[in-house]
Amino acid sequence: MSSRVAKIATGNGHETTPLLQAIVELPSGARASTTGVWFEPGDTPYFYWLIPQSQTHAAVGFIAEDGKTARTKLQRFLARIGLKPVEMQSARIPSYTHFTRPWRRIAGCDVYLVGDAAAQVKVTTVGGLVTGLRGAKAAANAILRQSGYLKELRSLQRELSLHLLIRSALNRFQSADYDRLLDLLNEKMINLLGVHDRDHAARILCRIILAQPRLLSLVPGALWQSSARISGCCSILFL
Ligand SMILES: Cc1cc2nc3c(=O)[nH]c(=O)nc-3n(C[C@H](O)[C@H](O)[C@H](O)COP(=O)(O)OP(=O)(O)OC[C@H]3O[C@@H](n4cnc5c(N)ncnc54)[C@H](O)[C@@H]3O)c2cc1C
Repeated sequence: MSSRVAKIATGNGHETTPLLQAIVELPSGARASTTGVWFEPGDTPYFYWLIPQSQTHAAVGFIAEDGKTARTKLQRFLARIGLKPVEMQSARIPSYTHFTRPWRRIAGCDVYLVGDAAAQVKVTTVGGLVTGLRGAKAAANAILRQSGYLKELRSLQRELSLHLLIRSALNRFQSADYDRLLDLLNEKMINLLGVHDRDHAARILCRIILAQPRLLSLVPGALWQSSARISGCCSILFL
């Protein structure tokens, strides 16, 4: 994320978002195989997570957006769910944008950035493990096939741009929208989400919408227009 090569190659590095998490002791009787998610749009447009790390401890955290108020929010949330922090951890996560261009030619050499250094992070969940490895594969293919990084990156960039659009919709969500989203879950959607992972959203988005067309009612009108514009541009580019 703080790569000096990336800073030089991209001009000024990437925008970043703060992440804060606490390591907590799990109360006796807690299920160490169960992950928890809470949607609290008043605190964050993302979500709070609880991920057990062992039989006794879990990580509870969130994407803070505003670093100054992050600690107070997390402590308040932990108090609400009855957990005490034994350790605090913070990090900054790079933010992908439609204009991220993770390559540059410097002194006659091609520089290909991958992973966090290339902001290859899906902004829906701010996860970059799988997408970073896809970026690494694209860079390896660009070298082996001498085909150019841009060409090899197209499918990953389509995926990351789709996550950016989904994030724009989620950023407008209130609690009632999350309730409605969960109410709209039907068996077909659950089956699709059970088989396909979120790192390949582009493969299933149309099928999910066909399985539950009322999902479209959660997407604000302005976003439709911009997504139609972007998908129109993308279709032209990809043709
Ligand atoms: C708390 C937290 C939770 C996360 N949870 C998830 C999750 O659940 N799912 C998900 O998909 N993503 C998650 N992420 C994001 C994910 O960890 C990153 O996107 C991913 O690790 C990026 O991989 P990377 O190889 O690009 O960078 P890094 O993992 O940062 O690896 C870069 C490596 O380079 C090394 N290095 C740096 N400088 C030098 C140097 N000069 N010489 C040699 N080595 C150097 C560093 O020590 C480091 O080991 C999480 C991130 C954080 C902080």
